[in-house]
Amino acid sequence: MIEQRLTTLRKKIRLNGKHVIDTLLSNHFANICVICGSTEDLTKEHVIPKWVFENNPKGYFSTEINGINQKYSKTTIPTCSECNSYILSALERYLEIIFRQIELDENYFDDADIEKIILWLEFIDYKFQVLNFRRKLKKPKDSKFIPFLADIPISIMQKMDASPHKIFSNLRNALKKLSIKSKANKVISLVIYITTNKSYHFFHKTNEFIFIELPKHQIAFFYFINQNFNSKKEASIAAKKLIKKVY
Ligand SMILES: [Zn+2]
Repeated sequence: MIEQRLTTLRKKIRLNGKHVIDTLLSNHFANICVICGSTEDLTKEHVIPKWVFENNPKGYFSTEINGINQKYSKTTIPTCSECNSYILSALERYLEIIFRQIELDENYFDDADIEKIILWLEFIDYKFQVLNFRRKLKKPKDSKFIPFLADIPISIMQKMDASPHKIFSNLRNALKKLSIKSKANKVISLVIYITTNKSYHFFHKTNEFIFIELPKHQIAFFYFINQNFNSKKEASIAAKKLIKKVY
């Protein structure tokens, strides 16, 4: 069932991806499904799914954007009800069930499941890219105006990428990626941790990496979105370095 829905997702993106990105480029705030471009039955898709926060006593986390506090439970982007409820929710439900069954062993997942986890993480990155694109950057106090802020504020290791062209092509590629079935070449770029950490952590750098912890399921993922490695060990060392920088 899930496979069939993901096939529908890939078809939709292949057919409409160009239209979606062109529309967003001409109007950053276009009210369209950011996956298939539909303007009907629009719903609010959470950038970070709510169930991910379950072990966080507040039920959300927040960050400062332009000096304004932003709650992630309220951070959404538009998607049509088919993309949101029928396809993406199904993917999340599927993952939640396999996460629940995990037996404290990072080799627990089979290749097909790993590819779904990668798709899910790529999807979160795409949502953040859309979000950044739609976010109006106000002039921060006591600093220069930066026309294109590429990174999300949660990310602590920010690097300013000021080229609009780069941001457009990143957005295009991020959506395109979701339409690629095989993630086999990216499996090494996913580092899986079994964790006993009780609190929720997340950090992310658009188009580069994403770290997400699911304390309820005692698991965490570090995924390098575009970087490839020769071995799992190499990826794991690179991930460790970045995690150390943050903590
Ligand atoms: Zn849609």
